[in-house]
Amino acid sequence: MFIYLDFVPHFTCACCGTCCRNDWLVTVDDAGYIRNREFFARTGRAGEFTAAFTPLAGKRAAGEYAAIAKRPGGGCWFLREDNLCLLHREAGHEHLDGVCRLFPRYPMRTARGVELTLSFSCPEVLRLADRPEPLNVVRAEEPPIPLEADSYTAEVFPGQQPRHSVLGYYFELEHHFIDIIQCRGLTVAGRLDFLAATAAALASLPSSPDAGREVDRLIRGNYDRLDAAEAAGVAALDPADIMLEHFFVNLIFKKVFYLHGLTGAMRLLQALWRRLAAAGAGGDAGRLERVKGAVMAAEFEYCHNRAALLKIAAGR
Ligand code: SF4
Ligand code: SF4
Repeated sequence: MFIYLDFVPHFTCACCGTCCRNDWLVTVDDAGYIRNREFFARTGRAGEFTAAFTPLAGKRAAGEYAAIAKRPGGGCWFLREDNLCLLHREAGHEHLDGVCRLFPRYPMRTARGVELTLSFSCPEVLRLADRPEPLNVVRAEEPPIPLEADSYTAEVFPGQQPRHSVLGYYFELEHHFIDIIQCRGLTVAGRLDFLAATAAALASLPSSPDAGREVDRLIRGNYDRLDAAEAAGVAALDPADIMLEHFFVNLIFKKVFYLHGLTGAMRLLQALWRRLAAAGAGGDAGRLERVKGAVMAAEFEYCHNRAALLKIAAGR
């Protein structure tokens, strides 16, 4: 089974080069380092290999062996002026390391199958997300786009949670959390507050054989309140608010609550929300563009500087 957000099949890289100019370290694993060393030796450019690939010093994260150098303007060593990747052109897609092959795709292996979304730090993804309709979760027998085997950014198996943990009901919770964020009878701030209260209530449930029943009871009570909020009237839809809605839906679909726990994930969302809300303050014509910029920065931080973000979120 393939489960994905409905904008995924519509993505095509616009070759804008943004992801190859970002303020991140593009790394390769040891196999990628050797593959490139051999490639550059074969093409008579051993000197360029030494200049472009620098083994990382000190403690390395799993799968990170060396970094690709940056050009003076901040772009990757291999980014050409026309925004195409020299390494891709000369050696082919398969030659690239994982992050370069995958971005902005975000595949996850879960107990439901393969789940897939996109990163909001890509401008083309934001362009697709700039739409009034809610993002929908699609289930299909076929993958929406070609996928590589064993390139997953997260593994989600709620059955492996401790016995009677509410996260054992993770998929039901994810569905409900997305419904909360998509409740257009509430402001975006109101939806975040509702989500925070729900996460806190769930986190305070004792581990017991009744956990499933308690989760169900809480969710049903919530739907009564969400239905009442929508019945009271849906506010005029502002494109910037809808972009914020889509960003949070995507973050939840990326399993933030499973990966960081109910309390940790909520802190993280609230830390991001504070910045996004500041960017979205005011009702002027530039609001959508400011929010888009803040969404890209928030996604980038979530993907590449999460440890620092979690520290901020935890008040450390
Ligand atoms: S930022 Fe997105 S559209 Fe631009 S080059 Fe990267 S993947 Fe393509
Ligand atoms: S190696 Fe190519 S795809 Fe990867 S960051 Fe550099 S220019 Fe972009």
